[in-house]
Amino acid sequence: MSIPVIALNDGTQIPQFGLGTYKTPADETERIVTEAIALGYRHIDTAALYGNEAGVGAAIRHSALPREEFYVTTKVWISDFGAAQTAAAFNRSLDQLGLESVDLYLVHWPAPGLDLYVDTWRELERIRESGRATSIGVSNFMPEHLARLAEETDVTPVVNQIELHPGLQQRNVVAYCREHGIAIESWGPLGQGKYPLLELPEIVTIADAHQKSPAQVVLRWHLQQGFIVFPKSTAAARLAENIDVFGFELSDTEMQSISSLEADRRGGPNPYEFTAR
Ligand code: NAD
Repeated sequence: MSIPVIALNDGTQIPQFGLGTYKTPADETERIVTEAIALGYRHIDTAALYGNEAGVGAAIRHSALPREEFYVTTKVWISDFGAAQTAAAFNRSLDQLGLESVDLYLVHWPAPGLDLYVDTWRELERIRESGRATSIGVSNFMPEHLARLAEETDVTPVVNQIELHPGLQQRNVVAYCREHGIAIESWGPLGQGKYPLLELPEIVTIADAHQKSPAQVVLRWHLQQGFIVFPKSTAAARLAENIDVFGFELSDTEMQSISSLEADRRGGPNPYEFTAR
């Protein structure tokens, strides 16, 4: 099985599919990531906030595969915003991971009320310059926040990682990012189990037609739009199910049927308001 890659605006490539680790318990992370690696996962998304960078790094370091086979993303949390704090937070993340560099480092939220995301981004530019993060990007940024970075800083983020699933498609953010060469990463791609996305009749009907699960159909919907996706699971059967999405294709009609499920169902915080500090 080969996982497609997406070309990023800095000349690098990212595997389009990977493993999410939000709420993956720290003491189980190495085991779960090791299982995922055995199933073919190579792209792992973590964050300082998740408290499990050590397990992610251990699984990678203890695998028989070279570091270059992996694509590792981590993120700076809001409480570490600002140049000096971000520099220190990045060092802590590398220490936790036990790696010399990450493939992608993200600003986790814009937290516009703190007015620190521009300073934080400038520090990410320096980190990229140092080679310890190959690429840098943002998460939960709305077009206004991206436009301000474009105006006041030098490097365009390679990705914007946003909450995105059929019930919350954020079409204005996607359109802005497409126009500016910023790839979209969908977080909460399966709706985080918070609303019964996977039970909606439109999705179940399509899943039955392909003899696939609702989760697999929703993951195809992301992939066929060019979104990067890393569903989270801690269960071996679901890890295997989620990566088994490269042997079938949804028709245009099926894609449209799923896209018609837009319902403004935001499960996470509103990026304009969130400043958890
Ligand atoms: P998700 O949509 O991936 O949902 C995960 C939940 O879906 C699991 O806990 C499980 O209950 C269920 N699930 C997984 N596979 C399934 C299957 N095959 N069938 C049925 N149910 C299944 O939500 P997520 O974990 O929040 O998002 C994915 C990743 O995105 C995270 O793990 C994290 O890495 C990242 N993330 C980033 C942010 C951010 O602010 N940048 C926020 C949340 C998550």
